[in-house]
Amino acid sequence: MSSADAIRHIRLSSITLPLSTAISDAKVFTGRQKPMTEVVFLVAEITTEQGLEGLGFSYSKRAGGPAQYAHAAEVAEAALGADPNDIGRIRETLLWAGASVGRSGAASQALAAIDVALWDLKAKRAGLPLAKLLGAHRDAVRTYDTSGGFLHASIEEITARADESLAAGIGGIKIKVGLPDAREDMRRVAAVREHLGPDVDLMVDANQQWDRATALRMGRRLEEFDLTWIEEPVDAHDAEGHARLTTALDTPIATGEMLASVGEHRRLIETRACDIIQPDAPRVGGITEFLRLATLADDAGLALAPHFAMEIHLHLAAAYPTETWVEHFDWLDPLFEERLEIAEGRMLVPDRPGLGITLSEQARDWTTASTEFGRR
Ligand SMILES: [Mg+2]
Repeated sequence: MSSADAIRHIRLSSITLPLSTAISDAKVFTGRQKPMTEVVFLVAEITTEQGLEGLGFSYSKRAGGPAQYAHAAEVAEAALGADPNDIGRIRETLLWAGASVGRSGAASQALAAIDVALWDLKAKRAGLPLAKLLGAHRDAVRTYDTSGGFLHASIEEITARADESLAAGIGGIKIKVGLPDAREDMRRVAAVREHLGPDVDLMVDANQQWDRATALRMGRRLEEFDLTWIEEPVDAHDAEGHARLTTALDTPIATGEMLASVGEHRRLIETRACDIIQPDAPRVGGITEFLRLATLADDAGLALAPHFAMEIHLHLAAAYPTETWVEHFDWLDPLFEERLEIAEGRMLVPDRPGLGITLSEQARDWTTASTEFGRR
């Protein structure tokens, strides 16, 4: 087989995934957002002249889904005929096709779905799981549960879900904080720590809703619970505020999920704003961009715990030099045929080629818009 291949067909789909329960974190309790009832996915399916296929996705919560889809639909045709192996070159082409809307946010998230599909395709061509194509440092990644610890859940519901998670082999439990009444936050954290005992990793996530003074006061009060990290204690774009907490507290500080480019993340890294960086490949523009930022983060000595989308991030976390965490969310399960295996606190890198995922019939049924370019 010649090494030269060409993109023959691209299909873009917008898929609305309904959530079984309306989700609330601290942003809902401060009145800034409504409870979340769905997640919108931009899915890219790419086929080549040699008959290989790549599947990638990007996503948005609450708003942005139509913008990502519309932007991808405007520029994707420029990738037809390109060699799918040349992922960086294709990214450049698509960036220039849409240059006036910039290189972050919804614009690059639109390109992320295509970038992820191209990495999936490249790994499939090599017959390797993506983690192996990149060069894995481990075959399984520590995993923690987020789905069960939201603020709409009672302490009893949280501890029951935590028991289920631990029984399923998940290694850590994260719960949300940032309620208007700080005493209620403390009561919930104390109850969950008491329930889990001292040996289970426990994290908290304030979803950016404390101001600097509150975050410092809460951070000091939380030290006694031996948390694995405090996540997004202050505004996601307040690098200096995060840096002060990182210096002041023994508990590690984690942040980065809301940032939408490598440049935004570089500011966190350069200001030593956190101990654990939490990039999200679809949000920063895809796997290509994630890898650039992972190199910067590793060089700065940061730990890595990517945000959401475990189907992609499991591979990327496995390829990071130092021990990582991957965030377990069961929300995306209905979109894909496969399930990720979990054992002894870790999520196992699948041995299927590429990302190791295929779209389910259910995902096809939830498709609200679709557009195609090229020949099938
Ligand atoms: Mg978070």
